[in-house]
Amino acid sequence: MASIFGSEGGDTKIMDAETFKKYKKMGREKIKGKGFSLWKGMYSAMLAQTKDQPLVPFMEMMLNVFLDVGSARVEGKPIIMHTFNYGPEIFYAMGIQPLMQELFSVGLSPVRMNEFYIDLTDEMGFGDNPTICNASRPLIGAYFKEAAPIPDLLFFTSTPCNSIAITYQVFQHLVGNLPTFVMDIPYWEYDPERKQFKDYYDEETLGYILNQSKNLVSWMEKNTNQKFEEERFKQTMGWLNQSRENIMEFQELLKAVPCPVNSVAGFSNWFTMALCGGTEGAVKVTKSLRDVASANVKKKVGGIADEKIRIAWPYIHVFFDEMNLFPYLEQNFNAVTIMDLLGFYPVPSHDTSTVEKCFESLARGTLDMSMVGSCRGPAEFYIDHVVRWVKEYKCDCVIVPMQFACKHNYSMLRIMAEVVKEETGIPSLIFGCDPFDAREVPAETIRGRISEFLTEVVM
Ligand code: SF4
Repeated sequence: MASIFGSEGGDTKIMDAETFKKYKKMGREKIKGKGFSLWKGMYSAMLAQTKDQPLVPFMEMMLNVFLDVGSARVEGKPIIMHTFNYGPEIFYAMGIQPLMQELFSVGLSPVRMNEFYIDLTDEMGFGDNPTICNASRPLIGAYFKEAAPIPDLLFFTSTPCNSIAITYQVFQHLVGNLPTFVMDIPYWEYDPERKQFKDYYDEETLGYILNQSKNLVSWMEKNTNQKFEEERFKQTMGWLNQSRENIMEFQELLKAVPCPVNSVAGFSNWFTMALCGGTEGAVKVTKSLRDVASANVKKKVGGIADEKIRIAWPYIHVFFDEMNLFPYLEQNFNAVTIMDLLGFYPVPSHDTSTVEKCFESLARGTLDMSMVGSCRGPAEFYIDHVVRWVKEYKCDCVIVPMQFACKHNYSMLRIMAEVVKEETGIPSLIFGCDPFDAREVPAETIRGRISEFLTEVVM
């Protein structure tokens, strides 16, 4: 059965006392030094949750991510900080340790430890909740308290939002002399086969991103001692595309009624790709999730008990209530969320037989990545995505916990809700909150809004 941390594969071990001790020791040895105090705390908190539990592949991967970043610093391996909307595969291929920053700044949110750093960032005068998103803003306050890991290199993209673009520029200049690469994500459609977007097609789109990917490789070579090796790149892209295949199969299985996994299993897939895309570990995790979904479909077993409502959630989770909101909806309304905007990873596998094909696959993945593909163009990209999703996954309603800081999504929602109603007949609930900060709209109020909507409109 799927749990909030993923699913048990056939060869799942138990985190027994001896294994637990081993991980604890590794944490002491590998995670230390300036900027790593919170990182170590997060690792310890995560480790504590695994004690005497099945060590599912997803959790094993998560623990290793924390350890690998710590080890890299101890061993002098270069660390590159990158944003959540870009896969780390090219960094792994170059032997550079990726650090997906939002694992840090959003990872603090479920235990409310981000609030102190949000307030500090406010006091320093960098944005506030309604203008700049709190997904990454805690990084700025944490930097000043010497509580944030400082990378050797920084990478971010121009998409999906101005919050990302501006927060990372501020961080870059605060740290000073931090080599930084910014990838410009183009607006237009790249695939002439996608007929519904023919008005937005531009034949230069794919080449534009592909050239930047090659420039990124040269930039990494120039700023580190690492060298690009073709065979290693091909191996990485092979693993990446195996994971993509697993995920596409998994997503196909979620069309079954009842849905074979719970509300967060899809998110585990995206998380895996954002942290470990292009590694053998990611192949293992995505395969384990796919296998559980497949076995449950065969047995006609649902991921939640007695499924009654299928929710489309075309936005991010309410991260500060990550551990409780979905279980609450599952238990009280028999409502399963059929993935969310990040958890739906719409990247198929590609041909990787040559180095050039590998670069093309990398570029396509960048353009189609969760949230990026649907939010980097005209509103039609997003609306079409949601309507198809609602129809194919047989959803009964749409729920969006929206923050004003996420301006590009905010501006499309009302049109999206109207088109969804017109084309599928199902209702939408859009309500304001800050998904990263419990103090704006508390968890109880959010649950109340959703409960009222499910009871009075959907059921
Ligand atoms: S929630 Fe919206 S504003 Fe915040 S990081 Fe994600 S895309 Fe950007």
